[in-house]
Amino acid sequence: MTLLSTTPRPLIAGNWKMNGLSTALDEARAIAAGLDRRPAAARVAIFPPATLLHRLGEAVEGSFVLVGGQDCHGAASGAHTGDISAQMVADAGGTMVIVGHSERRTDHGETCQQVAGKAQAALAAGLEPIICVGESLEQRQAGEAVSFVIGQLRNSLPDSLAGQAFDVAYEPLWAIGTGHVASVENIVEMHAAIRTELVARFGEQGRATPILYGGSVKPENAREILAAPEVGGALVGGASLKAKDFLAIVEAA
Ligand code: PEP
Repeated sequence: MTLLSTTPRPLIAGNWKMNGLSTALDEARAIAAGLDRRPAAARVAIFPPATLLHRLGEAVEGSFVLVGGQDCHGAASGAHTGDISAQMVADAGGTMVIVGHSERRTDHGETCQQVAGKAQAALAAGLEPIICVGESLEQRQAGEAVSFVIGQLRNSLPDSLAGQAFDVAYEPLWAIGTGHVASVENIVEMHAAIRTELVARFGEQGRATPILYGGSVKPENAREILAAPEVGGALVGGASLKAKDFLAIVEAA
């Protein structure tokens, strides 16, 4: 997917994680219906579990809702039981994919090198990757948050992203699913550092690459976070599971 726009609309991305049976498709339909009432100022995407990807795409077909995968393998196919490839995400109707989420890095020991391989595989399949980075509480308390995240970013972004549509999500580990949202000061500082790195690496393209914040984004705090400098959207976990909450976050963008 080649980069077309230099001023992308904010992206509000709902990561359902390992949540959602067939009945959850009703929430996706409600999100699509909520957006159909007026064109959204933001791009809106849902990342359901792989088991729902295809059906969710059908459920929201014709709406403003984009659909993506929560992960993909770095290889196009092969003996990797339980994994799915980027091509499979695309074949199931996805146009985007999250790679390097901290839960993948922690639960499955994914390295930056593997994450870069997944981002590359996503591009090869025509998907827009969202590449996640973020520091632990210990790293923040030790004053190493910015240097750690920038190092992680450097190693997780393949050179092949040049000229292609992609997004970065900054998600401090201590804010994910905890209700402890990062302060606007913390977010602004980190997003500015990420922007500097993106511009150094990708030039003009790096100025427009959306940098999403993720970590306990809720209807109550979304407006303040999304208005902060260099925040180009939100990656939303828990609050994306209910259409009412998710739509309120979209409304805040
Ligand atoms: C996430 O899943 O990436 C996330 C940020 O979760 P939550 O919004 O629940 O903190």
